[in-house]
Amino acid sequence: MADYYDLLGVGRDADADTLKRAYRRLARQYHPDVNKEAGAEDRFKEIGRAYEVLSDPQTRARYDQFGEAGLGGAAGAPDMGDMGGFADLFETFFSGFGGASAGGGGGRPRRRGPQQGDDLRFDLTISFEQAVFGEEQEIKIPHLETCGTCGGTGAKKGSGPTTCATCGGAGQVRRATRTPFGSFTQVAECPNCGGTGQVIADPCTACGGQGVQQVRKKLRINIPAGVDTGTRLRVSGEGNAGLRGGPSGDLYVFLTVKTHPKLRRDGLNVLSEVKVSYLQAILGDTIEVETVDGNQELEIPPGTQPTSVLTLTGQGIPKLGNPVARGDQRITVTVQLPSRLSAEERELLETLAGHHSARGKQHHHHNSGLFARLFGQKG
Ligand SMILES: [Zn+2]
Ligand SMILES: [Zn+2]
Repeated sequence: MADYYDLLGVGRDADADTLKRAYRRLARQYHPDVNKEAGAEDRFKEIGRAYEVLSDPQTRARYDQFGEAGLGGAAGAPDMGDMGGFADLFETFFSGFGGASAGGGGGRPRRRGPQQGDDLRFDLTISFEQAVFGEEQEIKIPHLETCGTCGGTGAKKGSGPTTCATCGGAGQVRRATRTPFGSFTQVAECPNCGGTGQVIADPCTACGGQGVQQVRKKLRINIPAGVDTGTRLRVSGEGNAGLRGGPSGDLYVFLTVKTHPKLRRDGLNVLSEVKVSYLQAILGDTIEVETVDGNQELEIPPGTQPTSVLTLTGQGIPKLGNPVARGDQRITVTVQLPSRLSAEERELLETLAGHHSARGKQHHHHNSGLFARLFGQKG
């Protein structure tokens, strides 16, 4: 058996368009009505088979991995003869001969058998504190669950699905069609069972024959310490239930963290600001500041400059996945200057200024005039 890619004269990485063009060119060349050479008809059939396999991404993947052996039952689908649909096929097949549309292409047979349930997204907003230290939280999610009444078969109790009479359980039908070029067969999804190979004569009343039901489910999810806005938590198997015995999808919880009135986050560090008076900045003090662990004492060292940043080591955000490692809290100090002075304050400051002035006179003669002008009148 020749390699399907070789048969079509394309590389193994050929895209859908390349495949289609190669197939159409060769089909025209070897069509038995056109080509009377010995073996042309067999070649024509091989080309058709190669294209049938390679034009479906799923069968192509199986072929790439396992070769002819990977295709198994697909080749054994029964030939159902003329099922009608002549116009469809005629158009699909011939639109390409004029070199017209490259798109279109008609529907491929849908995958039958078990089908995995969809993954679901759930958006959850949590507090700043919850994000920092983590917490278990209950959520209610709407998702599809396997119907408990019929166990997912979709059939009424005691009845069960039966084999589709149209396709004999194959899920696919072959349509043989006569065209001016001769007879063609095309594999299509069975219109009666939708490709599943089974039909439900007596549907389950609880789920309407779907085999699944929409349910609101309570879930307790564990929010780990250190999460942030944009963190995605995967809850395995809590997406939609699969169909026909397929596995459930997963639930993805997308987190949004509320802002905190005083604390901001920068990676693993917490940023905050604190206001101190100019006297506290000059003389030093111990004040209380808010941290993620509650209020805490912070030492303002004497001579703290405006906009300097003080650090509380290890008082930041725990690292996601390794909560023992924590960032720091970095506190920017704003020094407040009084806009009005009491008489007493003013006097004290002027004394202080005079003291400076006196010292200044000894070392910086050019400053003495300035101090005299500013503070000299009273002294
Ligand atoms: Zn049911
Ligand atoms: Zn069928």
